[in-house]
Amino acid sequence: MNRVYLDNAATTPLTNEVIEAMVASMKEQYGNPSSTHSIGQEAKTKIEEVRRLVANALKVQPGEIVFTSCGTESNNMIIKSCVEHLEVERIITSPLEHKCVAETCLDMKKRKGVELVYLRPNEKGDLDLNKLEELLKSSEKKTLVTLMHVNNEIGNIYDIERIAKLCKEYNALYHSDTVQTVAHIDLDFSKIPVDFASCSAHKFHGPKGTGFAFVRKSTGLKALITGGPQERSLRAGTENVCGIVGLGKALELSLDHMKEYSEHMQEIKDYAIERLSEKIQGVKFNGRSAEKEHSLYTLLSVLLPYKNPLLGLQLDMKGIAISQGSACSSGAGKPSMVMMSILDEDEMDVCTPMRVSFSHLTTREEIDVLVNALLEIESIDKNN
Ligand code: PLP
Repeated sequence: MNRVYLDNAATTPLTNEVIEAMVASMKEQYGNPSSTHSIGQEAKTKIEEVRRLVANALKVQPGEIVFTSCGTESNNMIIKSCVEHLEVERIITSPLEHKCVAETCLDMKKRKGVELVYLRPNEKGDLDLNKLEELLKSSEKKTLVTLMHVNNEIGNIYDIERIAKLCKEYNALYHSDTVQTVAHIDLDFSKIPVDFASCSAHKFHGPKGTGFAFVRKSTGLKALITGGPQERSLRAGTENVCGIVGLGKALELSLDHMKEYSEHMQEIKDYAIERLSEKIQGVKFNGRSAEKEHSLYTLLSVLLPYKNPLLGLQLDMKGIAISQGSACSSGAGKPSMVMMSILDEDEMDVCTPMRVSFSHLTTREEIDVLVNALLEIESIDKNN
């Protein structure tokens, strides 16, 4: 059975160049980067090369990049450290955030008594930034705003520049979860005054278990994982050298091909919208997913006009991998927070959400296979 992989927002396959770079690193840079001998220092040099590459891509200082084990760790580190070390007493967030942000904010409320304020989206998943301004104005408490750049379930793009400027104006710290956007959108943090951002290598054909946090130096954020002085004392622990090398290679390839890859994915996404709209009567697209200017080209959030909780499983049996929400909530068997925030209950009772997400490797033929499979499943279900 030929397999069709359309779950690239959950994770992407490693490319051969990344695997080769990682294998070479495992063989050659086996030294401990903290060792002072030359074998250790060769590993250290490799890490610093990647740090410079990342910093150049984001137009920040190399010392502002902290390598971590994943996007989840980066988000945890930033939010928890803001509360523990920067005296944040209030967090403004939204119900659209990834679980690793949502749960961390709740944890800070429960354990540290932080006031948690939610900016509610409308049915399109838009956030009202005038309301954000009112919230920022309304309290003297030291505030952290944590709002993602692109939503991982519906693909909506949020106005990172305007949010950053508002946060600066009202003296709030701003964290943007950029896990879905690093390597997919050009980010220039010398112009956007965001304080913190996060990245995960496996979202752009790099290895799982490697990411980084951008921490603007002026914030004075401190380590959450303490121990040795690695990562300029911001994250203790012997570095994952080959993972960092893999992240660097994957980022380099994505940056080199960003125009070509983004055009390809947008073309595939347009084709998916066209084919689904043509073949499935009553199909809808969630949030701003089908709008080019307001959503990322990497994913399409579909609302099928019938209820089928087994859809993911049925597609899987046909060799097609899609997701019915984010990978972190799809095992939960209930609609995700994102869907509950933007769809009304009646709609959720009679419809099925499906996330189709692309990479530069996705083909039109794979979209055809998906659409045909959906038609087959629909007709079997109707006849039963
Ligand atoms: N934030 C967003 C928006 C994500 O999509 C994900 C992964 O799905 C994460 C954070 C977590 O990243 P990681 O899988 O590296 O922990």
